[in-house]
Amino acid sequence: MSSIPISLLDIEEDSSESLAAEDYQKREGKWCAGCGDFGALNAVKRLLAKEQLKPEKMAFVSGIGCSSRFPHYVNAYGFHGIHGRALPIATGLKLARPELDVFVVMGDGDCTSIGAGHWIHATRYNPNLTVLLLDNNIYGLTKNQTSPTTPQGYKSNTSPRGSVLPALDPLQTTLGVANASFVAQTADWVPAHLYATLQAAYEHPGFSFVRILQRCPKFTPDVFLEQIKNPDLTELLVHENGVNAPGLDKLFKAQRQHDPKDIDGARALAQRTDMLRLGIFFRDDSFPVYDEVKAVSPVSAEEKIVRLAKEFDRYAV
Ligand code: SF4
Ligand code: MG
Repeated sequence: MSSIPISLLDIEEDSSESLAAEDYQKREGKWCAGCGDFGALNAVKRLLAKEQLKPEKMAFVSGIGCSSRFPHYVNAYGFHGIHGRALPIATGLKLARPELDVFVVMGDGDCTSIGAGHWIHATRYNPNLTVLLLDNNIYGLTKNQTSPTTPQGYKSNTSPRGSVLPALDPLQTTLGVANASFVAQTADWVPAHLYATLQAAYEHPGFSFVRILQRCPKFTPDVFLEQIKNPDLTELLVHENGVNAPGLDKLFKAQRQHDPKDIDGARALAQRTDMLRLGIFFRDDSFPVYDEVKAVSPVSAEEKIVRLAKEFDRYAV
């Protein structure tokens, strides 16, 4: 896979036509049959169509991994970055071009291992980014290596006798960071929930962190299999300010009222391992957003010359 940033110079400028979901597909996705990345891409395309985002007014930034091929497939500006570095690239882009909608797509190895430092600090900086963590519990692109989210005991090429350590939980970690403002979990096999979660994440002003549980039929075909076969093993977090999508109440009998403003409740729920939980764990739209706090008004060339002249005057002899 190339790690060369892709330049989509063939994007047409400012089309005023209404765009359908398929108009946001740049080229066919090259993932394995049954890969959960397809579902994530479909949900994203639906969101872009619903919001009628202009391809020239948004950017997708990724790191390295199967899911990081995303920018190649979305009709938008894209930056296929380097391993673990999607978040600083995206933060810089948002600071320089605040008018763009910036989406970030990372895998579990990418975000929670080599990119972990950036993940923690981007969460605290709270830039206005929509962040997708596609978590298949494995390094897929590099062919079946244990990642931080691989379940304990799971066998891989790097842990042939099974992963020895308990898995890192991305929700618990993010919820533990100061200024974390939006933390949600959804799953690629529940399209209505996935789409509604991305919609809420997009609307949130700040760092919207969405962990998408992602099927990888190639290397971790059974990690979510029980929950896929039996919806009763999944609990839906419901609230008027949470994720609400038609049909979900019929699919999932187990439901829990959870106010997304309740950080202690969110942390307690994230720690529990008795069921899979889907929904918005935490959301607060009032937290300081880095690109707004750091925003500087544009300076004209004339003003720059005046400032420079003043600086030179300080050294006049
Ligand atoms: Fe998807 Fe897994 Fe194949 Fe990668 S290896 S494309 S994550 S199914
Ligand atoms: Mg992975």
